[in-house]
Amino acid sequence: MSDRLFLAVALNDEVRHGLAAFLGERAIRLPGRPTPPNNWHLTLRFLGSTDALQRDRVLEFLDEHLIVQPFTLGFTGVGAFPKPSRATVLWLGVGRGSGDLMTMANVCEHAAISAGFEAEDRPFHPHLTLSRIRPPVSVDGLIEQVGTFPLKMDVDRVTLYRSHLGRDGASYEVIDEVLL
Ligand code: ATP
Ligand code: MG
Repeated sequence: MSDRLFLAVALNDEVRHGLAAFLGERAIRLPGRPTPPNNWHLTLRFLGSTDALQRDRVLEFLDEHLIVQPFTLGFTGVGAFPKPSRATVLWLGVGRGSGDLMTMANVCEHAAISAGFEAEDRPFHPHLTLSRIRPPVSVDGLIEQVGTFPLKMDVDRVTLYRSHLGRDGASYEVIDEVLL
C-alpha cells in the first residue's frame, strides 16, 4: 500500500476565508487554474508515493527532531515562479516567520531522507500556491494590484496530508499532525 503524501502548514479558517475575501474585495481575477481555497496550504516537503513504514518513520523523526517553538506567520503580496513576466505558478509569499518555516522544511527534508526518500535538489521557497498557469502569462500588473495580505496566523503544527488526484483536481485529506 502506498499513498501520495506531503507535509505542509495548514491554513486556519480565519486566514483561509480572509484571503478569499481579500482577493474577492479587490476583484482579483487569477489567471490560469486557481487552486480552490479549501486546498490552500504551505508545502514543507512533498513526499509522493509513501508506504506505511516510511510514513511512520517520517512521523517518528518529526516527533523527535522538530524543536521549533510555535510562532506567528505573516504574509507578503503575490509573486510568481519562475518570474512575474512569464508566470507558471502564482503564489502568496511569506513574510514574518519565514525563517521558522525554513527550519521546519529543513527538518522535514531530513525526515524524508531518514525514511529513504531522495534528497530534494531544489531550494525551498515558502509560498502558498494561488494559481497554476499554462501557457505562462505576465502577472506584473496583478502584483501591483494585490498588495500585502495583512492577516497573521499562529503556527503550532506540521500537517501530513494525503493527496487524491482526480479529474476535477486534487483533494487533500489530513492523515496526521505533529505539534510544535
Ligand atoms: P495537481 O497536481 O492535480 O495540480 P496539486 O499539485 O495540488 O494538484 P499534488 O501534486 O498532490 O497536488 O501536490 C501536493 C502539494 O505538493 C502541492 O503543494 C504541490 O505544489 C506540491 N508538490 C507536488 N509535487 C511536488 C514536487 N515534485 N516537488 C515539490 N513540491 C511538490
Ligand atoms: Mg501537483
